[in-house]
Amino acid sequence: MVNFNVPPTVGDELDFIKDAIASKKICGDGRYTHMCNDWIRKKTDSAGVLLTTSCTHATELAAILCDIKAGDEVIMPSYTFVSTADAFVLRGARAVFVDIRPDTMNIDENLIEAAITEKTKAIVPVHYAGVSCEMDKIMELASKYHLYVIEDAAQGIMASYKGRQLGAIGDIGCYSFHETKNYSMGEGGAILLKDGAMLEQAEIIREKGTNRSKFFRGQIDKYTWVAAGSSYLPSELNAAYLWAQFLKADEIYENRMTSWQRYYEALNELADSAYIELPYIPEMCVHNAHMFYIKAKNLEERTRLIAYLKERGVMAVFHYIPLHTAPAGQKYGEFRGEDKYTTTESERLVRLPLYYGLREQDQERVIDAVKDFYKKK
Ligand SMILES: *Cc1c(COP(=O)(O)O)cnc(C)c1O
Repeated sequence: MVNFNVPPTVGDELDFIKDAIASKKICGDGRYTHMCNDWIRKKTDSAGVLLTTSCTHATELAAILCDIKAGDEVIMPSYTFVSTADAFVLRGARAVFVDIRPDTMNIDENLIEAAITEKTKAIVPVHYAGVSCEMDKIMELASKYHLYVIEDAAQGIMASYKGRQLGAIGDIGCYSFHETKNYSMGEGGAILLKDGAMLEQAEIIREKGTNRSKFFRGQIDKYTWVAAGSSYLPSELNAAYLWAQFLKADEIYENRMTSWQRYYEALNELADSAYIELPYIPEMCVHNAHMFYIKAKNLEERTRLIAYLKERGVMAVFHYIPLHTAPAGQKYGEFRGEDKYTTTESERLVRLPLYYGLREQDQERVIDAVKDFYKKK
């Protein structure tokens, strides 16, 4: 059987975890957390980066930093994971869903302006499959209407737009290190900040509303409760796992890119004969091979394709059910404008197995099975 995902392991994780244990510091914000923060900060040229317990929590932290309140509106695509909306509706805001572009599956930058009202506080672009949204246009709108831009870059580490790393373009960026992402710590994430004052505030909220980070740096002589906060810092054990992966970041990247390219080349003939559609990467985007998807003709064909692949021992999956059609989406949000592509395009999409270390012979099995499905027609 070819699994859909295998969590990344490079082999050194256990050594670093043992080292963290030996250092007698396994709670948050120890040496490994700081090394990971620094690695991301340098890589992305951010003012500050903090590991968090998940991307969902990084986004919650972002919502608190932007003072999102009841009655506010936050613009996002409906074609995304639930966390994008959860973080804001938890604070009482309304999710305003805007249609996607069929080529990248990202929010359509040209439809955002029509969805903005006096209640709008933020735009949340989601970089689907590690392919950037049209950020110049989004940043321009945000500055025109004084809105925050919070990038859901859960899938976007090591990918860029016009040379800038995803997650470091907006006011705030959020990464995920869940086991399904390119780099992992089991469960975890990071918040990326452009602004030093916001970084200081983020440190406080992340540490239960205390100024403990300043205390540890020796900037104050005792720490105290200074704001309403929570606990968003991951354990050193998880950070040690992630550190092992960062040391092999390029190897993981190259390995995924090779698999992605192999799918693209092998399935091109099916795309040429108009049986399927392949992913599209705009010229100014460098992606990170986070996922490889194809689009079938419609929902009915996709259902048969996934069932056929399963019979052949290949686990392929679909996502997302558009949020505006889900019970919570109807309660906490609304689609603004026409749903021209969100529903129809989401019903066509199938994700093929792609993970670090996917063996070539397994990938050939996937490719052969997809080709055979269309040959039978
Ligand atoms: C994975 C993912 C998340 C959530 O990440 P967690 O670290 O599991 O909280 C949020 N948004 C998108 C687009 C994702 O792919």
